[in-house]
Amino acid sequence: MIKYLIERKRDGQSLSTAEWRDVVFRYAAGEVPDYQMSALCMAVFFQGLTPEELEGVTDAMLGSGGRLEFSTPGPRIDKHSTGGVGDKVSLVLAPIVASCGVNVPMMSGRGLGHTGGTLDKLESIPGFRTDLTLEEAVRQTDRIGCALLGQTAEIAPADRKLYALRDVTATVASIPLIAASIMSKKLAEGISGLVLDVKRGSGAFLPEEEDGLALARTMIRLGETRGCTTVALLTAMDRPLGRACGNVIEVIEAINALRGEGPDDLMEVTLSLSAEMLLLGGASTTLSEARSTAERALESGRALAKFAEIIEAQGGDPRVVEDTSLLPRAHQQAVFSAPRDGFVRKIEPRTIGRTIVSMGGGRQSLDEVLDLTAGMEFTVKSGDRVSRGDPVATLFGTEIDTINRGLVGVGAAVEIGFEPAEQLPLISHRVSAGGTETLRAVRADDPHGTPRAGDR
Ligand code: URA
Repeated sequence: MIKYLIERKRDGQSLSTAEWRDVVFRYAAGEVPDYQMSALCMAVFFQGLTPEELEGVTDAMLGSGGRLEFSTPGPRIDKHSTGGVGDKVSLVLAPIVASCGVNVPMMSGRGLGHTGGTLDKLESIPGFRTDLTLEEAVRQTDRIGCALLGQTAEIAPADRKLYALRDVTATVASIPLIAASIMSKKLAEGISGLVLDVKRGSGAFLPEEEDGLALARTMIRLGETRGCTTVALLTAMDRPLGRACGNVIEVIEAINALRGEGPDDLMEVTLSLSAEMLLLGGASTTLSEARSTAERALESGRALAKFAEIIEAQGGDPRVVEDTSLLPRAHQQAVFSAPRDGFVRKIEPRTIGRTIVSMGGGRQSLDEVLDLTAGMEFTVKSGDRVSRGDPVATLFGTEIDTINRGLVGVGAAVEIGFEPAEQLPLISHRVSAGGTETLRAVRADDPHGTPRAGDR
């Protein structure tokens, strides 16, 4: 009986691989109710999982559905982020890497908690389909080098249900639950290599550096023991990434980034992760060579053309890459201005993420229809000096109420003070099966604390 499994986990005992498999399969089949599964998740949240249990849960979630079956051995490489605010990296990185000849079958999620989701962003492109079947995803990856798909009932369905349940039961921020969720989806993609973007800082599910490192090492162990070479970069989420936060607005920023006009922090994180993917995919032999290859893909326009090709293949209107006015337009907008002179000490990403949810740009209930135009674009970054009345952010949405909620939220998230505040280094660690490297500290000439891949 499930009740006895919950009791044992609650009391700190471990469950066997067979027991985990049974409960996960029965949950995916609708035979275990949400209330029992949420109690079990809460027990895991407090008690953790042993390494054997973690393997059992991950394999059960992976085995709850099908996999992408490719007829050739690869390489195929993907990237996954543990979740952030303003994190549109996947939209820029997937076309860059695919246009360099490394195949990217990428399965993404919807918004979770205060963080945005790649699927919601993609669905703001008119006509874009994310519900590809496994066969469609395989055929498209073989044909054009990339498919951007959502979880369907076919692939890791247990994670699909659990992800939504954890979102509304305050059980997201757990190392074993995040690791099993991410790795079960990723291992179902038939990939030979995976690059993880593990966020740390106040806007991350796990804000502390040591938790981020522990999560990275846990996922690397799961990947490596299942034939998938896995590398992680720890990146900053103590401020939003880039300037745009929301769905349509992030797609516009991603298209600008593919045109070579993206904000520095977004470009640095995207190019560093792309370089890791190109290295794993065998397209380059060193990280600095891989970085140059990714930069050339942007400069030549090949990455932008690849994004248009992916959009067209998935039923979307590829003209959006040339003309972003074809994307849904916000009916209302307003500017939030600096209330006083000083330095922008903080733009709190968790408050920004929650503000976007309150504006209708993220879900408060499972079936909520989103206002994809809701969001904001920051004119300033943390560390910038402002004068009273300077524009800080422009808010977008369909209703005046949406904008008003946005103005209140931005007011709460932005702190202006006499001196600039310390920020986390943009990319602080590289973790692989070989160990953990601490990357160079913040450079004085680099306000965003940006180590370069080639400097390592
Ligand atoms: N991303 C996922 O896919 N799962 C989690 O649990 C958290 C972030």
